[in-house]
Amino acid sequence: MSTYGGTDRSTGKRAWVYAQSVKGRFQKAHRWSGWALLAVLFVTPWLRIGGRPLVLIDLPGRRLYALGTVFTARDTIFILLMGLFGAFALFLFTSLYGRLWCGYACPQTVFLEELIRPLEKLWEGERGVRRARDAKPMSFDKLWRKVGKWASYTVLGTAGSLTLVSYFHPAGELWTGQAGVGAYSMVAVLAVGFILDYGWFREQFCNYLCPYARFQGALTDDESLVIAYDLKLGEPRQDKAARKTTPKEELGACIDCNKCVVVCPTGIDIRDGYQLECIGCARCVDACEGVMGKLNQPSLVNYTTIAETEGRKRRIVRPRTVAYGALLAALAAIFVGMMGSRHSLEVGINRVPGTLYQVDDDGWTRNTFLLEVTSHFTEGADRPLEVRVDGLPAGAELTLPPLKVGADQTVKVPLVVRVPPQADLPRTLPLEVTVTSGDDEVSVQATFKSGAEEALEG
Ligand code: SF4
Ligand code: SF4
Repeated sequence: MSTYGGTDRSTGKRAWVYAQSVKGRFQKAHRWSGWALLAVLFVTPWLRIGGRPLVLIDLPGRRLYALGTVFTARDTIFILLMGLFGAFALFLFTSLYGRLWCGYACPQTVFLEELIRPLEKLWEGERGVRRARDAKPMSFDKLWRKVGKWASYTVLGTAGSLTLVSYFHPAGELWTGQAGVGAYSMVAVLAVGFILDYGWFREQFCNYLCPYARFQGALTDDESLVIAYDLKLGEPRQDKAARKTTPKEELGACIDCNKCVVVCPTGIDIRDGYQLECIGCARCVDACEGVMGKLNQPSLVNYTTIAETEGRKRRIVRPRTVAYGALLAALAAIFVGMMGSRHSLEVGINRVPGTLYQVDDDGWTRNTFLLEVTSHFTEGADRPLEVRVDGLPAGAELTLPPLKVGADQTVKVPLVVRVPPQADLPRTLPLEVTVTSGDDEVSVQATFKSGAEEALEG
């Protein structure tokens, strides 16, 4: 059966990839970086800084906790800046280092390489044994191994899902059964997704679903790092046909052992040239280094660039890397500048829904607003707040309860403005509401509406 990238060429159907395990310096690097990343992923939701979660996306509270800072719905600009920074950082990284992210840091790869494949090998053995057993009809031996394997995937999938949801719901509540039905429903849905992805879908996710993989053609160029087979050194490879027809001294170094192919987790042959299915995991490099090392020859599969394979020098500084670098510097400068001028209070004012204005029995015009104050300070006692409204006509009355806000807290109070009857009262009156706490002062705009507007509209 001829396969390519997990697909049977003749039928176009899925062909299971039985990746053989491999040892080598890049797999060692994988192990270290993979376990470090897994530790970060599983531990982060449990960490706190300055009394706040280190990272938490509180969707119901519309807050993002990140490294000791809280961003609320009014901080969308900061979240947008962070998103843009992340996107352009990935663009820059990809244009320089190709799919190093896919090969070493993507959760799909890290979970598969560090947890799922070792588990699969533990339950079902090495590639050849797994393949032979799968080709046979169901037996007790096959059944208990499959049950054991899927049971361990279920435990891992559930732990992974609980961890992911812990970035959206406090981990302490979630892992101790104190979260709500919504949170556990999300855990269940994600767990099923993880189990199916890691146990069954695997490389198909990279081939067909991952958007980052689809953008590779646009994000990389001849100078980006790729994994490539050395055609000049390797070809014509020493397969059966070439050995018969080609003089020995004209044969290439590749002994056609197929080792680089059988270890590939996406089921491709890197000797066919650069392919979008290649996730840059370097398993084929380790495989060829192992084979050629025994023959005291250099590996035929290596990290390189298209430019280098064509005899040109690799350029790090080029228009796209300069443009991405400049954009990143500009975004970072804007972010730092805006954070520096951020107030310790956040103030919002809205009209109470359904109350444009009201004329009281005594003829005064009343507008009722909701004043919302969010504190950005993390420590200390409740702070009293003073509220001032500028732009009111003479004789106007302001009513609101005593106002104070605690650390990391949001308070909402009604603010009532009453204006006495007067002939020249405009239909709209711009107001400036200023909230003061200690030495910090924040002003927001509001509009007082009067019956004059109704007279015009009516
Ligand atoms: S070709 Fe090599 S680097 Fe690419 S996915 Fe296969 S084993 Fe990994
Ligand atoms: S591992 Fe190296 S020698 Fe073996 S087939 Fe692949 S490229 Fe050729």
